[in-house]
Amino acid sequence: MANRSVIIIGAGIGGLAAGCYAQMNGYRSQIFERHDKPGGVCTAWRRKGYVFDGCMHHLTGTSCASALYSMWAELGAVQGREMLYPDEFTSIQATDGKTFTLYTDIDRLEQHMHALAPADARAIDEYIRAARRFTRFEFFGILTGGTWGMIRMAPYMPAMFKAMRVTLEQYAQRFSDPFLRRAFPMMQYDFANIPLGLHLGFLAACHNHTMGWPQGGSLPFAQAIARRYQELGGEIHYKARVDKVLVENDRAVGIRLADSADAQAGAEYRADVVISNADGRTTIYDMLDGRYTDERINNYYANPPDRQEMGLNIYLGVARDLSHEPRAITYLLDQPVTIANETHDRLDIELFSFDPSMAPAGKSPLKVTMPGSYAYWQALAATSKDRYNEEKQRVAETVIDAIEPRFPGLRGQIEAVDVTTPLTTERYTGSFQGLQAWSPSGAGFTAMLKGLSKTLPGLDSFYMVGQWAGATIGIPLVAAMGRSLIQNLCKRDGRRFVASVG
Ligand SMILES: Cc1cc2nc3c(=O)[nH]c(=O)nc-3n(C[C@H](O)[C@H](O)[C@H](O)COP(=O)(O)OP(=O)(O)OC[C@H]3O[C@@H](n4cnc5c(N)ncnc54)[C@H](O)[C@@H]3O)c2cc1C
Repeated sequence: MANRSVIIIGAGIGGLAAGCYAQMNGYRSQIFERHDKPGGVCTAWRRKGYVFDGCMHHLTGTSCASALYSMWAELGAVQGREMLYPDEFTSIQATDGKTFTLYTDIDRLEQHMHALAPADARAIDEYIRAARRFTRFEFFGILTGGTWGMIRMAPYMPAMFKAMRVTLEQYAQRFSDPFLRRAFPMMQYDFANIPLGLHLGFLAACHNHTMGWPQGGSLPFAQAIARRYQELGGEIHYKARVDKVLVENDRAVGIRLADSADAQAGAEYRADVVISNADGRTTIYDMLDGRYTDERINNYYANPPDRQEMGLNIYLGVARDLSHEPRAITYLLDQPVTIANETHDRLDIELFSFDPSMAPAGKSPLKVTMPGSYAYWQALAATSKDRYNEEKQRVAETVIDAIEPRFPGLRGQIEAVDVTTPLTTERYTGSFQGLQAWSPSGAGFTAMLKGLSKTLPGLDSFYMVGQWAGATIGIPLVAAMGRSLIQNLCKRDGRRFVASVG
């Protein structure tokens, strides 16, 4: 069979992965990306020598002990890249110095928790026992390991399901120590109602060093996959926003670039298969005019959340050595502060000194992250650009004042400031309301595996890949989705799927 051609819309991690595996399997592919760089939301940028990372906290599959490692090797993402494993996952700190640190070494964590709350020995022991049990299998392997992953996990399923039924908030009720009871549910960023099992999956993976941080962070990681794609013969067109998917007789046959695209505005490209990694709402309702959809998809996009976890981020470039600080701090405030119309009694701070490539020696980027409301920022931007920018500046000032007591002298050491809102993400990635994909309401386990729109009803030769196709997020998940899409394509075309390490 002559090599079939594939067009991929979007060079996010999902689109890049699909492109790499398409090239490995003899398809002739090209990617059209609206931005001038690869990675989508997996990105970073520089300000005055500081790298402000907009995405990565933890990457799963960083060592060969993980089932996911071979995929990263195939994608050229891990070769020659040092993996870093900070000693702390996070540290919850009160202004009086009281601290609960989630050490990634479970033995150290056990000692720390007993010293912090000796009266809670029973609940602590049970938590630590469960954590040790989770180190014997790879929780995140199940999400990408297919049937074999499930079979390997079988002996641990009862423990896992038990832990998935309890939230961190519920488990925290077992502690009598008031500080530990308050701090425990804050261990997993600012997400509410996180199942204990999911948290233990993170903790165990950090303990086992199957989850870590690729040196350099998000953008070099994405760029490495883009390089691998190009080495495999794939072509990426940047500044090439796709406006329409061309359809003939209910079959996708190509794409048309937007008139505003720098790369050959309005040009049409044809291919045997079209894959969209782009924002789901734009793909389904704009590029395809909403002609190929169903009730489940329509319900999903009719009810987007307004608030986005980690939607509002304040980045500071600080001329200060913060290498002795933990990777992340949840700072509990004595006096709540109002930021962008929301009251906060804590601030979540990320510190990047553990990776020396993120700033010049002796300096550090610092990021404060919190939920952001699209409607709030949209209303300001609609009033005037100045109003929007003034509010961003006000937010940065409030945050700096609030964390100054934790880092005395900080204000005078700040060399760079940046604030991103949901509108920033929308502008750079075209992501609907700057959102990340959210779980469909009432989604069960099957729905999670099936995704939302990996194909569209009634449309042939068209696929989606990435967070919107799966209605789920995670760098390994979207990459694995790219891999399995090409596996399915090979099956359909009667080819044997192959994958290679460059
Ligand atoms: C703040 C934050 C922190 C995160 N932390 C982690 C973490 O620690 N670990 C982890 O595993 N995951 C993390 N994630 C999740 C993970 O980054 C995402 O789920 C994943 O990167 C999504 O990849 P994607 O390829 O599906 O989509 P995207 O990254 O959204 O890529 C879509 C691409 O399509 C392009 N595009 C859109 N419209 C068009 C068009 N019309 N024409 C051409 N191109 C178009 C976009 O520019 C973009 O490049 C985080 C996400 C965020 C936002």
